[in-house]
Amino acid sequence: MDGPRVTIWNEFRHEREPGPAADVYPGGIHRHLADALAEAGIPARTAVLDDPDQGLGADDLARTDVLVWWGHRHHAAVSDEAVARVTARVLDGMGLVALHSSHFSKPFLALMGTSGRLSWRVAGERERIWCVDPGHPVAAGVETPFVIEAEEMYGEPFDVPPPDDLVFVSWFQGGEVFRSGCGWRRGRGRVFYFRPGHETFRAYHHPQVRRVIANAVRWAMPAAPGPWPCGRRSDPAEPLAR
Ligand code: ZN
Repeated sequence: MDGPRVTIWNEFRHEREPGPAADVYPGGIHRHLADALAEAGIPARTAVLDDPDQGLGADDLARTDVLVWWGHRHHAAVSDEAVARVTARVLDGMGLVALHSSHFSKPFLALMGTSGRLSWRVAGERERIWCVDPGHPVAAGVETPFVIEAEEMYGEPFDVPPPDDLVFVSWFQGGEVFRSGCGWRRGRGRVFYFRPGHETFRAYHHPQVRRVIANAVRWAMPAAPGPWPCGRRSDPAEPLAR
């Protein structure tokens, strides 16, 4: 069976400026995520905000089974037309794996229908990530708990709909907790949100983080390709009583 056709989309503006993000993720976060997926045997193409059609043209999305998204400062720059294409593809079966500050990305918010708000603090503190559903495919082979020594804190309440699947919960050194690994079904598609990945820390170098992202891509792969028998006039399956 063919593997998922994966596109990793990244804003890729911050890492082009000299500074800590460029030092931690030279070449861009998307390249490091692509390396992580390649290690797991999942080839991926990459796309960035400054590509033609913002990397989200109809052709780009038509050849994408799972879209991995990272963005933070330029959510508003993503065109509403591109967002409509992404959300339509998810409802039609494409998987979306939204990472870190993508909780404020337009496609994630459109699919959630909530504000996506949370509390945060950039202090480089310890994050301890606990698996609360060890049998879930996204947790396969992942140590629990695992520790990221320095990360941005995200704290509850996280304004999202109750997840269909809650897989990971984070504890932070400062005391907060957060639902850091959540899955939802939207139409025929699956959405997974995974919290770590502030651009000036090293989460995407962490082997456990990389494993979770690869698992999430596999979990989000479309399950049932082909036409969906809904949205049409229905003939009775049995004769109707008169
Ligand atoms: Zn951040």
